[in-house]
Amino acid sequence: MATAKVPESQDVTRIERIGAHSHIRGLGLDDTLDARVVSQGMVGQLQARRAAGVILKMIQEGKIAGRALLIAGQPGTGKTAIAMGMAQALGTDTPFTMLSGSEIYSLEMSRTEALTQGFRRSIGVRIKEETEIIEGEVVEIQIDKPASGNGEKRGKLTLKTTEMETIYDLGTKMIEGLIKEKVQAGDVITIDKASGKISKLGRSFARARDYDAMGSSTKFVQCPEGELQKRKEVVHTVSLHEMDVINSRAQGFLALFAGDTGEIKQEIREQIDQKVSEWREEGKAEIVPGVLFIDEVHMLDVECYSFLNRALESPMAPILVFATNRGITRIRGTNYKGPHGMPIDLLDRLLIISTQPYSEKELAQILNIRCEEEDVEMTEDAKDLLTKIAVDASLRYAIHMITVSSLVCAKRKGTEVTVEDVKKVYGLFSDVKRSTQFMMEHQNEFMFSEITHSEPDAP
Ligand code: ATP
Repeated sequence: MATAKVPESQDVTRIERIGAHSHIRGLGLDDTLDARVVSQGMVGQLQARRAAGVILKMIQEGKIAGRALLIAGQPGTGKTAIAMGMAQALGTDTPFTMLSGSEIYSLEMSRTEALTQGFRRSIGVRIKEETEIIEGEVVEIQIDKPASGNGEKRGKLTLKTTEMETIYDLGTKMIEGLIKEKVQAGDVITIDKASGKISKLGRSFARARDYDAMGSSTKFVQCPEGELQKRKEVVHTVSLHEMDVINSRAQGFLALFAGDTGEIKQEIREQIDQKVSEWREEGKAEIVPGVLFIDEVHMLDVECYSFLNRALESPMAPILVFATNRGITRIRGTNYKGPHGMPIDLLDRLLIISTQPYSEKELAQILNIRCEEEDVEMTEDAKDLLTKIAVDASLRYAIHMITVSSLVCAKRKGTEVTVEDVKKVYGLFSDVKRSTQFMMEHQNEFMFSEITHSEPDAP
């Protein structure tokens, strides 16, 4: 699930922090869904943000399934940024999956399988479970020697509640919980029956005196009396895809961590759908339709488009959000052209949001936000120059120059990026315009210089 990203190491966290869209914290709308000019890292693009906000509201209310949205506009006009803003605003409980059109071309699975997995990653199942919390005083813990070399531990725990003394069988996880909490006889603990989680509350009052003499700082609690078993409701949200993988014998749940899930059999999916619909009827689970965002959607081919057309009709379909910067171009897998490289019948089902080019002032505001995000101090003159570069070359190029200029500045032991630093970087790295110009002038000196001008947009 794209939403539940767990950074694996510090490095990953750092990359995440300065990612291309890390300054986006939401769509920046007010309560009436009007876009604030600058808010939550978002600048301008007011119409498109408001439109995205309306869709977001419908998703949050769980009112719609199987709707699709296309964000279309020129490169660098914030299409991906708006989708990321939607993801941030939805929060972690609603699945948001991000795919790039080209990602579905893999040798390991068919294109439709990759899309199906994307669909099922974007549907959450909110499962309600009742659990019992048992609270009592530990009388005795007995841990057996592991019988085999597989490290599995077993043991017994005698727990005294006001009603009775009960012996519980312990598994590896619970034993590790006891060791971690440094539980010993005389401690008062709770056991969560569903998860096996053990928590130590302190030492029983009855033994407090002996312990105190040892100078321990352990918290003492009254020996438990009264109601000792409490009922609690636990809610977890998992995606249909996670359930598929866990139940697929060929994969096993470890595949979830490796990310290498391969193809999943249709019968497994049917079993899961069946189970989920039973739970829904029993009131144990509810469906949370999330968002599947497909960037560079023009990279899909006609087979994928026909799959999407059909898949959208399913009652369990997520909200699809597409983005493209293409004009009228060839539809992959055919010899026909279509607006955005998409077939008309699919386009007709979509709500289309278009993004507009930014004004100079808006570019300056975005660059300012990026400087803050990347922790770069820059003089006003240098910021003005960077804005001119964004107007003349592209916003992306100007954004890339921020960190590089700060490295140049650090090299000369400066603390604030100046016009000179920006100029230096401008000289070191070409933007697309200058690079293309160079190619035009020197194309004969390169390999494969034959450029065909017939279909510049064809993917
Ligand atoms: P492409 O068509 O090339 O994929 P895009 O329209 O998806 O481009 P983005 O990647 O969203 O463009 O924007 C380029 C950069 O500018 C990103 O770092 C993005 O976060 C930032 N950006 C774009 N629009 C805004 C905005 N309105 N507010 C704040 N940041 C923005």
